[in-house]
Amino acid sequence: MTTLLVEFRGWVIIEQMPNAHPFQTHPFQTDDPRLIPIKDKVLAGERLTEADALVLYGTGDILAVGWLANWVRERMHGDKAYFNVNRHINPTNVCVAACRLCAFGRKKDTPGAYTMALEEAFQTAASGYTEAVTEFHIVGGLHPDLPFQYFLDLVSGLKERFPQVHMKAFTMVEVAYLAKRSKLTIRETLVKMKEAGVDSLPGGGAEIFSDRVRHIICDHKIDGDQWLDTARLAHQIGLKSNATMLYGHIEDDEDRVDHLLKLRALQDETGGFQTFIPLAFHPANTPLQHLFTTTGMDDIKQIAVSRLVLDNFPHIKSYWQMMTPKIAQISLRFGADDIDGTVVEEKIYHDAGATTPQGLRRHDLVRLIQEAGREPIERDTLYRPVTRTETSFTVSV
Ligand code: SF4
Repeated sequence: MTTLLVEFRGWVIIEQMPNAHPFQTHPFQTDDPRLIPIKDKVLAGERLTEADALVLYGTGDILAVGWLANWVRERMHGDKAYFNVNRHINPTNVCVAACRLCAFGRKKDTPGAYTMALEEAFQTAASGYTEAVTEFHIVGGLHPDLPFQYFLDLVSGLKERFPQVHMKAFTMVEVAYLAKRSKLTIRETLVKMKEAGVDSLPGGGAEIFSDRVRHIICDHKIDGDQWLDTARLAHQIGLKSNATMLYGHIEDDEDRVDHLLKLRALQDETGGFQTFIPLAFHPANTPLQHLFTTTGMDDIKQIAVSRLVLDNFPHIKSYWQMMTPKIAQISLRFGADDIDGTVVEEKIYHDAGATTPQGLRRHDLVRLIQEAGREPIERDTLYRPVTRTETSFTVSV
């Protein structure tokens, strides 16, 4: 045990606490006394409440929140920081939904609208960096005419050409839309996708579950409950998924907490989520472009609060495309254990004004992680270690 003196506005708070985690170099300290009982819960492995989460969002003591998130992160993963070598494929940007949050979707036959022929998608998959990718990340718009069979053929064709590559494909929103268009249940749709070669789902389209916010930013999408129901069904048929949250637009702290608690409850039920990915909103070229972009403080705090509240999620990702490589790197000391992958060609956030590169090389990711004092671990989509040569890789199972 360590005796810790915490000074707060003239008061001295004496704290008895376990020694800091072996990786951490200094004890917990704070100038916000509301964080003391939360610290006690975190160190005891107790679950945080809605009220605790609101305190974490509300405090200005980012270093104390970061200390706690880092403590949890190091208890779960030590010094390991994960990345992967992946490629994004966006087969179409044609979309019926017209979400206000979006700069990617286009109406059919309008300037900039595109849909890849299957052969073009296969060529895209093979292009880009020479490093062998372990994952295709496939998401796109809600096309009014493309048949479900196009998407099944896309996945099975990729699987045939790249049998070793994991197919992380289709948001819950795309799954629900394709189910509706093909007059199948969500479960039947997911089963057909799995049979075609889908290995897991990326977890996009969750945005913010709050109806109030959803009506404004994405009123044509499935609602929060439908997103959660689709994820539940995916997990029930053996497909793992990630989960996302779009923040930094018109939501408030209560909306963020509500979103996290709903995800935590579903994870208790299914255990099917692998990674939580908070996505910073990029307003440029959207109908919400009058809004500010997120700040570094908000981004870092979002990562830390996510790590502390989502106690049943194995991984918290600081997605470098959305956060910038610099914030993603710092996040590795504030709760994140993953910074995503090489990506190669990101379209969705670059249409919304992202100034990050469209892709990073493997050695760039390794350097970011090493300079954060962490141990880079190349993973596959299921977080199994990858060993590679220049043009091939082996997954440890
Ligand atoms: S966010 Fe997705 S569903 Fe909404 S308009 Fe953009 S591509 Fe379509």
